Amino acid sequence: MYKKFFSKKKKFGNNLVALDYHYFTDNSLTYPKLGLEVSYSALDKQLKIFSESFEPLETDFALGTFVKKKSYNSKPGIIISIDDADKSIKYALKYFIKYQIPITLFIPVGLCIDKNKEDGKRSRILCRYRELFPSSKGLTLKEKSEFFDQIINSSFQQLYEYELKLGSPKKENNITASRELLSLTEIEEIAKNPIVTIASHSMSHNSLAELPDNWLKWEIKKSTEYIKALQGKYDLFAYPFGYKKSYNLKVKNLLHEEGIKYAFSTSSKIITKNSDLLSLGRAPMLNFHNKDYVFGSAYGAFHYWDKILQR
Ligand SMILES: [Zn+2]
Repeated sequence: MYKKFFSKKKKFGNNLVALDYHYFTDNSLTYPKLGLEVSYSALDKQLKIFSESFEPLETDFALGTFVKKKSYNSKPGIIISIDDADKSIKYALKYFIKYQIPITLFIPVGLCIDKNKEDGKRSRILCRYRELFPSSKGLTLKEKSEFFDQIINSSFQQLYEYELKLGSPKKENNITASRELLSLTEIEEIAKNPIVTIASHSMSHNSLAELPDNWLKWEIKKSTEYIKALQGKYDLFAYPFGYKKSYNLKVKNLLHEEGIKYAFSTSSKIITKNSDLLSLGRAPMLNFHNKDYVFGSAYGAFHYWDKILQR
């Protein structure tokens, strides 16, 4: 798409392409089929291209001002986010600093809270709740709601027993739970850098459309409280998983009630001034440094890819 179409384009308007990273690595890829990892050397090359040929923008400015401007920009605007607060962000940060590219970190807050604190324990159990109910039929909304109340009202000792039952997380069952994440102290430290914005990615990283009301409210309200305390941008949100079925109108309405202005999915829609602000698109950044692929992604080629696949 880049070679045939975008590279011949002269004017880009003020549409935006949001790009999303997850994990960074020095070694061979742990989940080669999932496209969640980018090597540091590929990252360096990608960011160099972004800094030379694109206009990497701070998210709030991009959505509030850039996309609405009357005059056209000479370079296409992009916004970059990193989901899931992986420990590897600590080492990736220097590349974003090198090119002065603004980033938003979407934090699954509960999983970054100390594991000896109650909210930290609760979130880690809720993240893996499916493993406690291995029967194939799954829980009804009512059962989930009761389970959630039980976890919220459990004593420290009871939570500890749930943890024992779960054992240590395995990547086959739950990738997010199996990663080593940044602590809140590390996030605070990283957030001191002016290129970094932090925002909520819920508490326990569950698909929000599948949760009962009490649990859903907690995911949004609690995580926003923590983000406020960390001086992050509490009106910005990214849906865990983010595919079409992972959120719905109920989730969007609740976000709106809680004062969230912008929410990102992982459908690769190009952002225009008419986009639904609570269903903004983002395209994945994959582990490539081929120039055409990097240009293609940042021009929004995945928008058309998702259209073809009707996602
Ligand atoms: Zn995520």
